[in-house]
Amino acid sequence: MGAYYCAICRQTAFNGKGHIFGKHHQSRLRLVIMKFIEKVKEARRTLKKPEVEKFDCTQHKKTFWCYCCGQEVERNVSDGNMTVLHGGLLEHMATPEHRKSTHKFWWENKADPKLKDKVIITHEETQRFKVEVAKVLETFVEQEDEFIKQQAELIRAQEKRRQELLESLVEVCFQGCNGGIHHCGLDCQLAYFSDA
Ligand SMILES: [Zn+2]
Ligand SMILES: [Zn+2]
Repeated sequence: MGAYYCAICRQTAFNGKGHIFGKHHQSRLRLVIMKFIEKVKEARRTLKKPEVEKFDCTQHKKTFWCYCCGQEVERNVSDGNMTVLHGGLLEHMATPEHRKSTHKFWWENKADPKLKDKVIITHEETQRFKVEVAKVLETFVEQEDEFIKQQAELIRAQEKRRQELLESLVEVCFQGCNGGIHHCGLDCQLAYFSDA
């Protein structure tokens, strides 16, 4: 075994396999795995209650580094309109590729086997998650529709009030001006009617 670069320790190791069993590597490994598990735990909490938000490019464009696969993964999932928080992470953790590289990673690094399942999401879990996401998206659309409806009603009500006010002004002006006395006291645009 020659020299190789250890991604966990971020350094080149010269003692081959011995490095994996060494204190330094094992403590770095534990740290990396613990941090990783924390992220997955956070995502797992939303499995039953997905967090959906309006897409925000300053907040939702996040990635994380999957040590098992040795690649960058999108943390959230978005269609440019809505974002499912942690959706990318959960999806990645459920892929067969991730499962395979996790087994390999654990084996190669002699990591604690008890922790392995914590960074793998089962197919059943993601299926349930998708159902929940669909439900949340549906209520989101309903809420949005309701908001638009409320806004439309508000505009209609304002329009009606404006119309009523205009009508009452016309009435006051016409009555006043027809009698020859312009006593509405308002800078009434309709005053010219009486002059015509
Ligand atoms: Zn190492
Ligand atoms: Zn992975």
